[in-house]
Amino acid sequence: MSILLTGGAGFIGSHTAVELISAGYDIVIVDNFSNSSKEVLNRLKVITGKKIHFYNGSILDKVFLNNVFYENDIEAVIHFAAYKAVGESVEQPLKYYSNNLTGTLVLLEVMRNHHVNHIVFSSSATVYGMDNISPLTENLKTSATNPYGYTKVMIEQILTDVAFANKEMSVTNLRYFNPIGAHESGLIGEAPNGTPNNLVPYISQVAIGKLKELSIFGNDYDTPDGTGVRDYIHVVDLAKGHVAALKNNLKNTGSAVFNLGTGHGYSVLELVKTFEEVNHVSVPFVIKDRRAGDIATCYADSSKAKEVLDWTAEKTLQDMMRDSWRWQSKNPNGYQS
Ligand code: UDP
Repeated sequence: MSILLTGGAGFIGSHTAVELISAGYDIVIVDNFSNSSKEVLNRLKVITGKKIHFYNGSILDKVFLNNVFYENDIEAVIHFAAYKAVGESVEQPLKYYSNNLTGTLVLLEVMRNHHVNHIVFSSSATVYGMDNISPLTENLKTSATNPYGYTKVMIEQILTDVAFANKEMSVTNLRYFNPIGAHESGLIGEAPNGTPNNLVPYISQVAIGKLKELSIFGNDYDTPDGTGVRDYIHVVDLAKGHVAALKNNLKNTGSAVFNLGTGHGYSVLELVKTFEEVNHVSVPFVIKDRRAGDIATCYADSSKAKEVLDWTAEKTLQDMMRDSWRWQSKNPNGYQS
């Protein structure tokens, strides 16, 4: 029996692949490398000592996906494959709705045809929208501020409805907070296309000299130092959260939702300072206006995952900053040599 990872060559998928293999699972990766690299598979082999079983193709292609299920004895799916750039989703909403929603619908149809009833979904804290107050609990009302966020809200709903209709189905929606860091080998990490949108990849590229300075979007928020506060979580902790969620999913039916965060918020300035201190590098910055759609503070109530999944994030902010920098400095151009 195998666990299928759609989008398994991506940032979170690849780290989850490592943790699943080390927990003894057989895995199959499907990826079309639209925002990842085949080199990831070589790196995974070095880390795990195992050849990675993978298929190069799109989950939008029903014939292709059907063949993957036909050729493998799939027990459960962890569904990472999706577009994820917020700004691009505002400019090209149809691209996002079409890829993220249709991809999920095709996957669910193929799963049904092959009687595969277990799915763990990559959702996001973005589903808490602008109005909820942190710490965020799973029972709060969901909403979104951009098409990317709406795809997460909608897919959570689709999965919940499917589990309601099919009593053999088991669905787990995982709401990620801000994943950063990298595997401690420095062999896999986040490799954004073009200029990064997210804070830590941006800081890393400033530190290495690829970008001139960091723009800090607002220092007049109602937070201790005025800059935005987020719940940053080490990607290896997040990956271990998937293993815990999968175990829980496999012994249940119905639908469940879990926050995967640390439960602590750090400000942009705290991140910059910690990155500089831990790595002995300098990160010049300028203060700019607030970024549209940003909120002051966002962090998880992470108690449900602790109680039900017996999982908590263990790594510190220092670990996250050190591992992000190791990845960046060993791979200045990501997976491109
Ligand atoms: N941020 C920033 N400069 C950047 C990118 C991000 O000041 O170049 C801030 C952003 O305003 C937010 C935090 O860093 O307060 C995290 O942003 P990111 O885009 O990484 O994640 P988000 O929480 O927005 O999904």
